Amino acid sequence: MTDVTDHGAGVRSLRVPIPDNPLGHTLVYVLDTDRGPVLVDTGWDDPAAWDTLAAGLAACGTSPAGIHGVVVTHHHPDHHGLSGRVREASGAWIAMHAADVSVVRRTRETGPDRWYSYMTAKLTAAGAPEEHIAPLRTARRRTLPGLSPALPDREIVPGELLDLPGRRLRAIWTPGHTPGHVCLHLEEQHPARLPGRGRLFSGDHLLPEITPHIGLYEDPDDATVTDPLGDYLDSLERVARLAPAEVLPAHQYAFADTGARVRELLAHHEERLTGLLDLLATPLTPWQLAERMEWNRPWDRIPYGSRNIAVSEAEAHLRRLVKQGRAEAVTGTEPVEYVRV
Ligand SMILES: [Zn+2]
Ligand SMILES: [Zn+2]
Repeated sequence: MTDVTDHGAGVRSLRVPIPDNPLGHTLVYVLDTDRGPVLVDTGWDDPAAWDTLAAGLAACGTSPAGIHGVVVTHHHPDHHGLSGRVREASGAWIAMHAADVSVVRRTRETGPDRWYSYMTAKLTAAGAPEEHIAPLRTARRRTLPGLSPALPDREIVPGELLDLPGRRLRAIWTPGHTPGHVCLHLEEQHPARLPGRGRLFSGDHLLPEITPHIGLYEDPDDATVTDPLGDYLDSLERVARLAPAEVLPAHQYAFADTGARVRELLAHHEERLTGLLDLLATPLTPWQLAERMEWNRPWDRIPYGSRNIAVSEAEAHLRRLVKQGRAEAVTGTEPVEYVRV
């Protein structure tokens, strides 16, 4: 049984499963155009996901071979994973924001060795204990999953309409979750005439019940001190100003009242930052901060890979606090410690 939701006026969504992941599904949107259906995201590269996608497209009266183009909100494998297979089947173009295309290109070019040594250096600098770092030095240098994503052949240009005959879909750059995340604003009247302006495909930027992971933008070649959490909060305000009548996210379900959800998220992050300042009454490394932050389970039950993600999130929060002048690095510490100002 294929799970297809009709959102009206030539927009449908398919629930494509993500293997072994608590998120469960990616919502892949099928947008009708005068040149044939265009997908917004594609799903995880996995045989069951592919079968579900193909069956869903069949239920929509098309097939992978009939796809005209693929618009990718961001480079993560639950969104971009199957883009290559769709392109192979159909000759469809794949469009992505340049900043995420760079990530894809880097991922394709970075061998596992380089990646492991980058992670080792990064975790050492964050104050990770030796027992956490040691496995990276001895890890089997096998190819990591998701290390060979499809290279997009079109760039999504912020603020511009995508070339979709018969539709008005504008790219809104919403960096934060990734450096090149985009939301896509369908500038057409809502089919049920809900109040507001059109509909917004929000990717992972704006979800009804969960907050997306905001970590550092991982780039072994770039020493720029970025502020992903600051970017994310700005991007939230950007989509609130659009005031779409309905949000079509890449996980969970469609919802209205964008403004309320954005306010909730801004308040959540402000509360979290304030909570971290309390912890930073004592100087802490990013690792020590991550250990003390609130997660969805106690630190000692957080698995290895998720700890890396947690530390990245702690670092993104530290960047924001430093940028706001609310915390600072303690001079002469190594690994560097941060303290409340
Ligand atoms: Zn994502
Ligand atoms: Zn996602």
